[in-house]
Amino acid sequence: MSVRAWATKRAMSSSDSALRTQVIIVGAGPVGLTLAIDLGRRGIRCCLLEQKDAPQFLPKMERCNARTMEIYRRMGIAQKVRDAGFPRDVPMDVFIITSLIEPPLLRLPYPSVAEAEADIAAHNDGTRPLEPYQLISQYTLEPLLKSVAETIPSVDVRYAHEFLSFEQDADGVRTKVKCPDGCVAEISADYLVGCDGGSSSVRKQLGIKLQGEANLLQFRQALYRCDDLFDRIPIGKGRHYHVADDRSTFLIVQDSTKHFTLHAVVDSDEEMKRQFEQTVAMPVEYEMLSCAPWRQNLLVADRYGDGRVFLAGDAVHLVIPTGGLGMNSGVGDAIDLSWKLAATLQGWGGPNLLTSYEIERRQIGVRNVEASRQASRGRRAWRSQWRPEIRDKTPAGEAARANLVRVADVEQRKSNEMIGAELGYRYRGSPVICDEPGDGPPDEFMRYVPSTWPGARLPHCWLEDGRAMQDAIGEGYTLLRLVRTEDTAEPLARAFADRGAPFSILDVADERAREIYGYDLLLVRPDLHVVWRGNRPIDAVRLAAIATGHA
Ligand SMILES: Cc1cc2nc3c(=O)[nH]c(=O)nc-3n(C[C@H](O)[C@H](O)[C@H](O)COP(=O)(O)OP(=O)(O)OC[C@H]3O[C@@H](n4cnc5c(N)ncnc54)[C@H](O)[C@@H]3O)c2cc1C
Repeated sequence: MSVRAWATKRAMSSSDSALRTQVIIVGAGPVGLTLAIDLGRRGIRCCLLEQKDAPQFLPKMERCNARTMEIYRRMGIAQKVRDAGFPRDVPMDVFIITSLIEPPLLRLPYPSVAEAEADIAAHNDGTRPLEPYQLISQYTLEPLLKSVAETIPSVDVRYAHEFLSFEQDADGVRTKVKCPDGCVAEISADYLVGCDGGSSSVRKQLGIKLQGEANLLQFRQALYRCDDLFDRIPIGKGRHYHVADDRSTFLIVQDSTKHFTLHAVVDSDEEMKRQFEQTVAMPVEYEMLSCAPWRQNLLVADRYGDGRVFLAGDAVHLVIPTGGLGMNSGVGDAIDLSWKLAATLQGWGGPNLLTSYEIERRQIGVRNVEASRQASRGRRAWRSQWRPEIRDKTPAGEAARANLVRVADVEQRKSNEMIGAELGYRYRGSPVICDEPGDGPPDEFMRYVPSTWPGARLPHCWLEDGRAMQDAIGEGYTLLRLVRTEDTAEPLARAFADRGAPFSILDVADERAREIYGYDLLLVRPDLHVVWRGNRPIDAVRLAAIATGHA
């Protein structure tokens, strides 16, 4: 069977023996799907294997952060994600309450998408992302990404296909896959990527361990349908309602505003009904659609792969969802790995490119686990101020409320205001980045200070012609020239051409951009991270060799 025939969308049966593709992706969660779409749009043939029959209606993540939305914009799907998500004019406020009908103890205001977009449009100092966050439930996002992946001719999406095992050697990777008819087929590829979640069997077969703190606390999460609740909430619209109680209860509004999840530390599913009714505290018609336990973990894998096999997403890092760095970190992994795999398969990527994946992304996994730890400590700090008399209309009750609010006004923000963690990460010690001497800007979770220090994400900036810099930058390497110059940059163009690597020059003699970026020249890679910056050309051959992973 030819590869082309195999790449048609029919379900594989055991008769499809010895199929070959370029990349096998195990797991069609948000990370595997994002990787498949990005590889596909780069023209790479890949096969996405998912053991489930179809995406499931089960709640998990619900917020794509600003960086993920920038990535989705670059992939051409940001608007689709917004159209499917939370209404753009509803505020993203976070409340601390005793119930949905009593005056909130604390209301932390956060802009709706429409307000955040207006703020972004009105500022041009590099401090804002190009795209604001978007609330979208994982059970909405996964089918959406699946439908996009299925339109890409080089992406073969196969649900009801369970990855069983692999072997690898110098020529490639061979996998055993259980097909819908129960038979076992073999698929081989140049590379395999395990995006198969926290209990990743790809990771286990590599013998890679997760390190850190496991099973910190067990919650129950239930999903409810309640059509008129959102409109009837008398205390104001928002996305998270944390109940000041001794069960760590919180209510999350899902993207439709008709569905809600409630998390609480309780012993039975039955108690989750009572907990919902107590929180809502008004008569509503509702249905509890599902309920399941989940555990808090703070774990990072020792390694992000071995040889031709790589790992991404929850397979290599598990955070406490507080702060929303789970899927968002995984999307960052996918996007770092995607162009490096494509470059290698297209023949212009040197060996350091794939080596740099673990170096760049594991440090971000460690960093985001730490950010999540700090956020959840903040949550615990204000919850520890709960007292049994908190609802009493007595001086003691009033004092308990005032004290909890005082602590929460500082500590709860640690979960909701992690813009530094989201945008300010930088790849240190990478063999494909021209590092500079010194420590570089400080690493802050709650503050984003724009920087073009090599390894950083290129800060967003509006150009004089109204375009966003990120939109003006092409898919390959880009030399940004922020001053008028007679220099042709010919040696650098030739050096990239000699490597067969895509390269272009973007002349932007724009004073604001020069001011924000701080240098005349910047070399930016396909994922919009800075490789090098300077005021005059340097050794072009060496720069191209480093950037493409050949140095
Ligand atoms: C309550 C809760 C709230 C959260 N909120 C947020 C949030 O707001 N923002 C955020 O960024 N993150 C959040 N997260 C975390 C987020 O849900 C995860 O980080 C995300 O799902 C990880 O995506 P993934 O694709 O790596 O793995 P998964 O979503 O776990 O997907 C792995 C896929 O691999 C498949 N698979 C496994 N083994 C095999 C096999 N052998 N063969 C074939 N397929 C296989 C599975 O069926 C699954 O579909 C939250 C998590 C929870 C529990």
